Amino acid sequence: MSEQQQEVDLRRTFAIISHPDAGKTTITEKVLLFGQALQKAGTVKGKKSGQHAKSDWMEMEKDRGISITTSVMQFPYNDCLVNLLDTPGHEDFSEDTYRTLTAVDSCLMVIDVAKGVENRTIKLMEVTRLRDTPIITFMNKMDRDVRDPMEVMDEVEDILKIKCAPITWPIGMGKGFKGVYNIMTDETILYQSGQGHTIQEKRIIKGLNNPELDKAIGDYADDLREEMELVQGASHEFNIDEFLKGELTPVYFGTALGNFGVDHMLDGLTKWAPKPLPRETDTRVVNAEENSFSGFVFKIQANMDPKHRDRIAFMRICSGKYEKGMKMRQVRINKDVRIADAVTFMAGDRANVEQAYAGDIIGLHNHGSIQIGDTFTEGEMMKFSGIPNFAPEMFRRIRLRDPLKAKQLQKGLIQLAEEGAVQVFRPLNNNDMIVGAVGVLQFEVVVHRLKNEYNVDAIYEPISVATARWVDCSDNKIFEQFKRKSSENLALDGGDNLTYIAPTMVNLNLAQERYPEVKFMKTREH
Ligand code: GDP
Repeated sequence: MSEQQQEVDLRRTFAIISHPDAGKTTITEKVLLFGQALQKAGTVKGKKSGQHAKSDWMEMEKDRGISITTSVMQFPYNDCLVNLLDTPGHEDFSEDTYRTLTAVDSCLMVIDVAKGVENRTIKLMEVTRLRDTPIITFMNKMDRDVRDPMEVMDEVEDILKIKCAPITWPIGMGKGFKGVYNIMTDETILYQSGQGHTIQEKRIIKGLNNPELDKAIGDYADDLREEMELVQGASHEFNIDEFLKGELTPVYFGTALGNFGVDHMLDGLTKWAPKPLPRETDTRVVNAEENSFSGFVFKIQANMDPKHRDRIAFMRICSGKYEKGMKMRQVRINKDVRIADAVTFMAGDRANVEQAYAGDIIGLHNHGSIQIGDTFTEGEMMKFSGIPNFAPEMFRRIRLRDPLKAKQLQKGLIQLAEEGAVQVFRPLNNNDMIVGAVGVLQFEVVVHRLKNEYNVDAIYEPISVATARWVDCSDNKIFEQFKRKSSENLALDGGDNLTYIAPTMVNLNLAQERYPEVKFMKTREH
């Protein structure tokens, strides 16, 4: 087997999707604890201890105690090398989260069993459907008085339209949480509370009918036996093909806070989740095992560390190997660059990488020439697809305090738009600059950065825009007519793409009815 093949086989690259407060940060801590990346879990966000997380970078973020940035963590588990891409927890940064989901091969969905399926999870699942990403589910907070697990599993099936295959099943809940029964291995794993910060010594009882089980958990044993008959009748059996197609999810139960069950989930992830998958480009499909290097940029982030006031472009390697000092071609501008200082991220700490393989994420220093969606290769002229822009959901008109700075404002906004911090629209019929965002905080970040990085004082004014859609049409004549008739609603985005700016949803619906030939798109490829 080639070295490249071996390295690819080792890797599992995933991200966590969840509703705020479901337990993503806590799970990340435990995952790192198991990966032995941290001696003692508890330093990822540390919002409770008052010490600021290493991955927090901007003052704004510290003030609010939220994590805006995407950091990347690599750690060994079982015989694999796992890459966990952290996503901004705050929904105002969903665009970064959405795009991060295009750079992974699988996702962990975390559900708070007390709450069930919540709206942000629904939205993020929609995004994973763009690529039919395989999903593993962790049902969290079993140490609380939660809802009936069967009912929550049904809810996942109904609302998220994915079949559930329980791999473990919980025994009791809240103060009476006793552990889980592993359906596949026919083993009960007992829970001990008060061991959240250490790797628990596992107490395992083999066999559902083992009298040891009755000794260990008393009446819960018979309840479990009865329940298992029901569960096995009412749920799906795990099937790897359906999992890989994104149609079925293996389900694990546990408590991240009590550090119970996260390791079971990691066992499933390393066993079943796909190794780095093939990726499509405009010319061909690229396999991870190929020796020639290729990758794409899915996120650009400014000033992660105040000591390095540059931007970092996050690149997912899709094939081949990065080696320190190698020459890469930036396809969009057809330019070769030598990269000697790519970085990896360890819960926010930077380290120079000597080499990295398909499935890994590396950070490139960006002095303004790299854009989201850029493909890098060893010379082949191709472009990875599937790294979309998402239609913004909020809009403001941006104005200068000092009208003489119009040039800087435009330059700043277009650069920030290229980074994906925000989107900019310039209406065809007037000189407004409309800023579109997926979340309110994005607006604040933009004003903050315009001031710090471009020395421009800008303010926002409300504007009545409900939504935006990128438009296209294969029939030129109809498209020209549409453009003439709708010019007051049309604008160009940062990349000069034509966009329909709808003052109301009703207006959008009417336009769509009137011009059925015109495509109104919620996402746009970079
Ligand atoms: P995030 O917003 O998804 O990152 O959620 P956090 O990991 O910050 O968790 C939100 C809150 O739920 C915190 O107070 C956690 O301590 C708590 N929490 C997380 N997992 C569990 C769990 O398994 N059991 C209980 N009781 N609380 C939990």
